[in-house]
Amino acid sequence: MQTNTTCPYCGVGCGVVAEHDTTRCDTLVSVTGDPSHPANQGRLCVKGSALAETLGHDGRLTHPRIDGLEVSWERALDEVGARLGRVRQQHGSGAIAGYLSGQLLTEDYYLANKFFKGFVGTPHVDTNSRLCMASAVAGYKRALGADAVPCCYEDLEEAELVVLTGSNLAWNHPVLYQRLRTAKRRNPLMRIVVIDPRVTDTCEIADLYLPIASGSDIALFNGLLSYMAGKGRLDHDFIERHTEGFDEALAAAQLEAPDIETAADLCGVDAERLETFYYWFASQLHVVTLYSQGINQSSSGTDRVNAIINCHLAGGSIGLPGAGPFSITGQPNAMGGREVGGLANQLAAHMDYHTPGALDRVTRFWTTPGLVPTLPEGPGHKALALVEAIERGEIQALWIMATNPLVSLPDANRVRAALKKCSLVIVSECMAHNDTLEHADILLPASGWAEKDGTVTNSERRISRQRGILPPPGEARHDWWIICEVARRMGFGEAFAYSGVHEVFDEHARLSGFENGPQATPETGYRLFDISGLAGLDRAQYDALAPIQWPVNVGAPKGTARLFENARFMTPSGRARLIAVASRPGMQRPGSDTRLLLNTGRIRDQWHTMTRTARASRLMHHRSEPFIEVHPEDARQASVHNGQIARLHNTLGEYLGRVRVTTAQPQGSLFVPIHWNDQFARQARASALIAAVCDPVSGQPESKQGRVALSPVTAQWEACLLLKRDARAPLEACDWWARIPQAHCQRWQMAGEKVPDWRVWCERMLGQAPTLWSEDETRGHFRAACLHGGRLLWWLAVAPVGTLNPMLGEIGWLDDCFALETLESPQRRRLLAGRAASGEDGGPTVCSCHQVGEKTIGRAIAGGCKSVEALGERLACGTQCGSCIPELKKLLAAQTERREEPVEGTSA
Ligand code: SF4
Repeated sequence: MQTNTTCPYCGVGCGVVAEHDTTRCDTLVSVTGDPSHPANQGRLCVKGSALAETLGHDGRLTHPRIDGLEVSWERALDEVGARLGRVRQQHGSGAIAGYLSGQLLTEDYYLANKFFKGFVGTPHVDTNSRLCMASAVAGYKRALGADAVPCCYEDLEEAELVVLTGSNLAWNHPVLYQRLRTAKRRNPLMRIVVIDPRVTDTCEIADLYLPIASGSDIALFNGLLSYMAGKGRLDHDFIERHTEGFDEALAAAQLEAPDIETAADLCGVDAERLETFYYWFASQLHVVTLYSQGINQSSSGTDRVNAIINCHLAGGSIGLPGAGPFSITGQPNAMGGREVGGLANQLAAHMDYHTPGALDRVTRFWTTPGLVPTLPEGPGHKALALVEAIERGEIQALWIMATNPLVSLPDANRVRAALKKCSLVIVSECMAHNDTLEHADILLPASGWAEKDGTVTNSERRISRQRGILPPPGEARHDWWIICEVARRMGFGEAFAYSGVHEVFDEHARLSGFENGPQATPETGYRLFDISGLAGLDRAQYDALAPIQWPVNVGAPKGTARLFENARFMTPSGRARLIAVASRPGMQRPGSDTRLLLNTGRIRDQWHTMTRTARASRLMHHRSEPFIEVHPEDARQASVHNGQIARLHNTLGEYLGRVRVTTAQPQGSLFVPIHWNDQFARQARASALIAAVCDPVSGQPESKQGRVALSPVTAQWEACLLLKRDARAPLEACDWWARIPQAHCQRWQMAGEKVPDWRVWCERMLGQAPTLWSEDETRGHFRAACLHGGRLLWWLAVAPVGTLNPMLGEIGWLDDCFALETLESPQRRRLLAGRAASGEDGGPTVCSCHQVGEKTIGRAIAGGCKSVEALGERLACGTQCGSCIPELKKLLAAQTERREEPVEGTSA
């Protein structure tokens, strides 16, 4: 059976077709791209295409728990209701807080917001979207009067110039990257500019790459505005008729970056290249500037957003096909959260507390017979302030839904201490283990992606259905149901009586249109977010809902692809605002021993804290361990070398990762991934190094400008230990470890200082003496395996530090051995070698879709494959999601360069 649903990872919001085996209730046979979905038109990236491999009931939270003990739902819900009620009675509504997530479906989000703000009466509800795109929201609101993304994905294809800034699109929004790549192929005149301090895979598509200094974005766009003014490239008519604040914004721009030389100097880029960018932008109406976390995650994130929007307004490039400032969200339903009012400074349905008439309007809308909501009068604590309020003892009860703040919030060790201090921590979660769960008093098992029913909104305002396909495991329940049951127990039952999730959506749609519409103005509460055209859907119509972009109302029954085509904005004057902005330094300043800038971000094949993506073993192969990317000169100065385990530290915490020396990283700055945590490695939470400082307007943390010191970890040995999936490695016996789930076993990479007697170590630490082993004491090599009844129990390889990984055999072949009931003699004979007799080492995985390694690709190139297409034909690499194409190109280029290198002693 096939079901059309939506990928639960990034903000592209790809449609997927899930094939379901109706004879097995926990199994999806496959997930493929939905050709009918407008966002992806059949494409998927590697994360989306591996979705079917991430399911299964192992590792799921299946029963409610109180203080670690399994209890019935009745007991858990009674307890949540009673304890929240007590906190409310004793300390007031404001002592209760909710921390939500862009992973929630819109219906869950809507009800959580209604529950906390409307009926508990607390304003302290924030969401992990605060960490991702709060600055984009604040920037849009300041400039356009509403949190309204003006563009749609077609604009990327219709643009003549696409500027990618603060976005590694190739890795973080791969399907949009593929769409852009195809568009460029079709329109050779299209130009693409990539602006990023780091050379990423996205640069591969660039006609022009600007490696600006970290934090110089405002200077760059102020310089552009000055250039446009100086070269007579402003759209005076548009500025005059449709904007305000131009003179002040231009004056600020000219003060900071009056000419190209100054701007180039501030940005640390070549003036000629900068002028090329300025000339291209200023000469083109059809420009899209696409930005993401590189812009948002800063203490001046909102100003950065406005610096970009200023240039679009000054050039009139907004509200047109192929034009506009386009923020791409990180999470699958960050936009849905914005729609319902999930951020602490919002009220509901795109109304803020100060929106004229909003408090009264929402109160009347949520009133049911005999039950009047008690809305707070003003905004609540944003995420970082929420942690501080817990520390001060003001927040006594916190309900976390679908997020893992102990890994994602900055200053993560402080968050851990705050949670320990909070008297009541409730967590709704679908996985049984994550760093946050350890601090929960009450655990509520929630349904997961393939089980949930509802809607999500992607980065282009497109609402898509996520459809439940499989039954939730054990006693897991939907988030919306859990909220309603707690609400009922707290006396709010009449306002939370729904027969199904379609009724929640209906109410959400009706609120969006309540006292809204063209007869209203922004001053009387007119909101662009209006999906009243979707109100009144019955269950069957809701089930059949096709993807559609808001607004959807009487004036736009089929949805709206692009906003502001009439150049009428949502400010009281109807004019868009240019905002005067100036650069300011990051709030995390270098110390005498923490001079290196720390940039954090996502990697291609993992999602957030890996609770789901790490379940697909093929997604663990591209980057298997936490790492630190470092420029060769910084590596030299810190005495660390490629492949070594190193330490980052500052006064807040510590991070351990494997060094990747690369010139892609600018000197003076490091990059680490955000994904690893205590479940997967020792000391690998990047957020532990980031100070809790944020943008004063948006409250978004400065996640890309930490300050750290780098030093080597002294270790004598490294080991690779393969164990049965449910066995745990003896982690107390090593100084560093990382767990890399495989299909049939767990791979543990370990390192340590003290060299033990390895045979004794095996017996003591693994509980069994090796069945097979080989040892070379002089070289420090040891290999062993243990079989019981013909079955492989564990496999171990040890070598001096830095030499192990290159000599490891085929982990895939060894992993398969764990699935066999009995290893036959030929397999046993190959065990210590770690590879099948005929097997060729494929090397590190490059193409995750088809599991093609670097060495295999190298052999194909040496054998005559001269293009990505030729490699695809021979090995299939790069032919599915395309995310590895930039890496394939690099390998082709490197091999070509090697072939062209002059041979010593001959003339070139
Ligand atoms: S680009 Fe990949 S992760 Fe993002 S929605 Fe599409 S398939 Fe999912």
